Amino acid sequence: MEYVSTRGNGGSVTFTQAVAAGLAPDGGLYLPRELPDLSGKLDAWEDLGYAELCFEFLKEFATDMDEAVLRRLVEESYKRFTDEKIAPLVGLSDDLYVLELFHGPTLAFKDFALQLVGNLYEEQIRNSSEHINVLGATSGDTGSAAIHGLLGKDGVNIFILYPDGRISPLQERQMTTTGAANVFPLAVKGSFDDAQHIVKELFGDLDLKRQYRLSAINSINLARILAQCVYYFYAYFQLPKERRGAVEFIVPTGNFGNILAGWLAKRMGLPAASFRVATNQNDILYKLFTSGQYEVGDVVPSLAPSMDIQVASNFERFLYYLVGCDPQKVRSVMGEFRDNGRYQFESFDADVFTASHTTDAGIREIIAEVYKKYGYVVDPHTACGFVERDPAKTAVVLATAHPAKFPETITEAIGIEPTAPALEELKAKTIVRHELPAEIDDIRAFIEEHAQL
Ligand SMILES: *Cc1c(COP(=O)(O)O)cnc(C)c1O
Repeated sequence: MEYVSTRGNGGSVTFTQAVAAGLAPDGGLYLPRELPDLSGKLDAWEDLGYAELCFEFLKEFATDMDEAVLRRLVEESYKRFTDEKIAPLVGLSDDLYVLELFHGPTLAFKDFALQLVGNLYEEQIRNSSEHINVLGATSGDTGSAAIHGLLGKDGVNIFILYPDGRISPLQERQMTTTGAANVFPLAVKGSFDDAQHIVKELFGDLDLKRQYRLSAINSINLARILAQCVYYFYAYFQLPKERRGAVEFIVPTGNFGNILAGWLAKRMGLPAASFRVATNQNDILYKLFTSGQYEVGDVVPSLAPSMDIQVASNFERFLYYLVGCDPQKVRSVMGEFRDNGRYQFESFDADVFTASHTTDAGIREIIAEVYKKYGYVVDPHTACGFVERDPAKTAVVLATAHPAKFPETITEAIGIEPTAPALEELKAKTIVRHELPAEIDDIRAFIEEHAQL
């Protein structure tokens, strides 16, 4: 299978090349040249275990990899999950289900992709014997999931920038207490957007990028999107057959990565009816899907920090299909958006997406309500998925994080402090972090000093 950039330059690359590159050289994002039709495989996949299903799905895409190697890497990737189903579907009522995506090492859905990406990287390093340095910015969960995907792996150092004081203390502990010599958590004095901006600039410094073999692990990596497609199929197979008629996946979203994976799964044959873009108060995506206006605003810190994002990097992949797979149109929309901070679509086709948004007050209310009604505790991100429901559909809400990651908010809402053994262990460990100003020169100097060559 071949992969092309949404911006159309640079020809096509293999799966392995696309994963290694992250961003395409023309600034676009990789997608399969053509999406396969997998609808004929659904019957055979119905009863597979998670890792098996993941392997069967990925082998359609990783066509330049040895199948035995791929199988081994996939199996390895889901070994550290603590629930035997990996992604269990929990029924709250006849037409309301929760897909628990928080049983991985960092208790958030990003583990599904980043455990795999870590293993893919390690395999590539082994084959090329070229060391790499992974660089990324995080508003919380990406960084810890990336670190836990790569910690202790040979030939790779990982540098993660995060906004000091603006991620939850437990998220910070997950990044800073690993004790791994190849992990460098950088507490930056600025916002997430400042951190992300610095990372983008550093990747734009082609000499630096080449010399240190900088590699991104952010949400635009092709392998992340593909790994995330798998649990939509897996969730569908766990639904009772009589509930599969009109399924709406409700996805708490920020960077549009998780929900995009579901939508791609549908384009490849998953018989879902619709996908709900569920945002918090940082609702650029809500506005886009309800008015066709895509506009950057200031990030307002919320109770669901991993969704506090104003530029949804994976939107470009949807845009590509929206404009009829025409890279020139993608370039013109993205160019105007970059220059003006906004883009107004003349006639925006939301396809099968619906949208909702939630304030912090709404998040607290929902946590209390869901607990009262179903005896089930949702984290503040997942809460955004419970805003309103279409009674004609079976709702599957994606639970993106374990509630124990946000003990203050939960305790405030229901008077009970949620816990998780993996998080309790962190409290006794030593924090190692590097405080740096939000200045590109300081960050560059740090990387030059600590990179693997
Ligand atoms: C990253 C994250 C999200 C948002 O996911 P996107 O793919 O960026 O839309 C939602 N909830 C949690 C807990 C996250 O970590």
